[in-house]
Amino acid sequence: MIYGARLRQAREFSRLTQRAVQVEIGVSQSRWSSAESDAYELPEIALSKFADLTGFPTSFFERPPRIELSGDPLHFRSRSTVSKAELRQAERAGEIVFEAAAYLQSQLDGPRLVLPTEPASETTRLTGLLRQALGLTPTEPARDLLHLLEHAGVTVVAVPAAATRKDAFSVWLDDRPFVALLETEAGDRQTWSLAHEMGHLLLHRGVGASRALESEADDFAAELLLPPAALSKEMPQHPTLQDFAMLKRRWRVSIAALIRAARRLERIDDDRYHSLFRQMSARGERLREKAAIAPSKPRGLRAMAEVLYGPTPVRGLADVMHWTLEFAEDVMVRHATAEELPFRRERADTVVSLDSRRKGTR
Ligand SMILES: [Zn+2]
Repeated sequence: MIYGARLRQAREFSRLTQRAVQVEIGVSQSRWSSAESDAYELPEIALSKFADLTGFPTSFFERPPRIELSGDPLHFRSRSTVSKAELRQAERAGEIVFEAAAYLQSQLDGPRLVLPTEPASETTRLTGLLRQALGLTPTEPARDLLHLLEHAGVTVVAVPAAATRKDAFSVWLDDRPFVALLETEAGDRQTWSLAHEMGHLLLHRGVGASRALESEADDFAAELLLPPAALSKEMPQHPTLQDFAMLKRRWRVSIAALIRAARRLERIDDDRYHSLFRQMSARGERLREKAAIAPSKPRGLRAMAEVLYGPTPVRGLADVMHWTLEFAEDVMVRHATAEELPFRRERADTVVSLDSRRKGTR
């Protein structure tokens, strides 16, 4: 049996409209639409053409999808509108890779979830509790937030999709927090997005997306990444762009975020604030900042696959998920090997604190 939801998943991941499918494989739009709602059985030849078109094996479509994100409140870090097709592609990519992570987790003992459980308490208190849970002091920069979150039981995956000015989204699945990272070139944006998504996960669980929630999540990110008490000691009285670039290297957030923090700390007034942003624009740095920080790769998915399928887990992962080797490789290269971990190398073997024992065999 072919699952209609899989057809839709692969089609939207490949950014194909039903009309495009009709053109490419010769199945009418209405038939195709019926196939996606399990009301029409697609002929084998059409399925095979569609599989070629989207780059998934035909067996992929014979397995029921375990995760469907439509209907869940997906909070996208959002400052501008994004095309619906891009958004759907990212969501479908998230479903496909989350499914792999959830499956591998079901085979292994993963890390215990150690996030603060207090519901929607005041932001400053919540970011303090989260820092504590992650093993950060109240004043140190969260230099490796991504891997600290993985240690704390947050499932973070990198997905083969990009969306304009979107870097991440998050969702609770079976009482576990999942974050998908989209393609990005800027490590500081990636860190901010992660912190922002943690805001959504902890403050907005089960709440639908809205603009107000976006600014709450950004306030959460600011408190978490730039604790005012610590930053005020380091922020000069009259900070220049040069100062902001130095602070960026240390705190790993964008110069833009630091300028906003400086205004909150009242080290700069509104005129200076706007003038700093004008200077950045004039230098072409509004979109591509100086003092670039490379993004980092999550480790957990690859670590789990290595435990189950050995040091080169692409084939094992492809087999079990019914992916092509190319797709499995594309997912794996977005996840760090132990050698690729940037900081806390001494903890590399325990990132995501995986046991090498399978569940139930200890
Ligand atoms: Zn958001």
